[in-house]
Amino acid sequence: MISGTVEQAAERLRKAVPIMVKYQIPVTPINYALWYTYVSNEDPTLNQRIDEIVSAYGMIPLTKAEDLFREHVSPSGSIESALHKMKDSFEQMVQGIDKDLHATIADTQSFSTLLDECNRDLRGSATSKVSSVDDIFGTLDKLLQGSTAMQQNTSRFEQRLSAANEEIRRLRSELETLRQDAMNDELTGVFNRRAFDLELTQFLGQGSRGPAVHLALLDIDHFKQFNDRFGHQVGDRVLSLVGKQLAAATRVGVSVYRYGGEEFALIFCGGTAQQALLLAETLRLAIERLVLKDSRNGERLTNISASIGIASRLPDESAEELLARTDKALYEAKHSGRNRICQA
Ligand code: GH3
Ligand code: MG
Ligand code: MG
Repeated sequence: MISGTVEQAAERLRKAVPIMVKYQIPVTPINYALWYTYVSNEDPTLNQRIDEIVSAYGMIPLTKAEDLFREHVSPSGSIESALHKMKDSFEQMVQGIDKDLHATIADTQSFSTLLDECNRDLRGSATSKVSSVDDIFGTLDKLLQGSTAMQQNTSRFEQRLSAANEEIRRLRSELETLRQDAMNDELTGVFNRRAFDLELTQFLGQGSRGPAVHLALLDIDHFKQFNDRFGHQVGDRVLSLVGKQLAAATRVGVSVYRYGGEEFALIFCGGTAQQALLLAETLRLAIERLVLKDSRNGERLTNISASIGIASRLPDESAEELLARTDKALYEAKHSGRNRICQA
């Protein structure tokens, strides 16, 4: 949980955001919580791991961010806790403003007391007619000091208020983006197309200096038949089953995305082409073993299978070129009989 003062909380928010912008890290609650903890320097092991990942990949892949989040920030791994963390820092900021506001009100009250006092002094000296110029000067000096202090306090408060205002507006718009920029596919639970486009570019961004990148496109065979024979809902269940099966590969560092419709994309970062091929084959076999059952009576309805195209990124190849070659390999897998892998 967040510790420290309001100033610290606001300072961390201010530091975390530019880093995220620099590394093009999407503002998801998990990423936010990670970078917030990073700039707080509360967990040196986390900082070391983040530095290592950034130097290896030039970014933090979403799957790795989730692992780090679970291990270092929130053992329960819930996004809710990351959201709470963000909410907490907002609250701390609001509390800070509230404190300033109260201090300013107190200052205003003491200034008004001072005004009364000076008023009394001046009126007293006017009626007694024995006032010395020094007395009046004394009162005016007191008034001047009081009003200068008041002015300083007010302008400090105004500055803080407008800085906080700006901060809140910025964070609010980030939260807004966050809502629109969801990275997960609701139906299957894996990352979505948006995350794929973003991450593929980032994975390839380092050119030949970066780690090896292998890309696979996986398309469920004769998927239309599930919809036609058993209804759209059963089709959805197939997608969700396949998504869950593929998600198991994230444990070994494979990034899994729903590319669109009944197609999934897999990014293998690091390792050899042979290792990526073996992993993809393991996944194909796991899908082949899935059995679709009737939810009403548990009866076996049919089998599921998928075709896969896989390609390894060539030196300086663009995301589009790699995708086109992978897609061609998938096309070959389909046209040579389905339920198989073809390598570009
Ligand atoms: P192939 O083996 O050649 O890939 O054949 P296919 O039937 O899998 O491919 P096709 O492209 O002909 O059909 C894909 C179908 O997937 C068409 C579309 O209606 C369906 N589809 C796309 N998205 C969804 C979804 O979210 N839910 C369901 N239930 N169906 C979907
Ligand atoms: Mg398709
Ligand atoms: Mg298909």
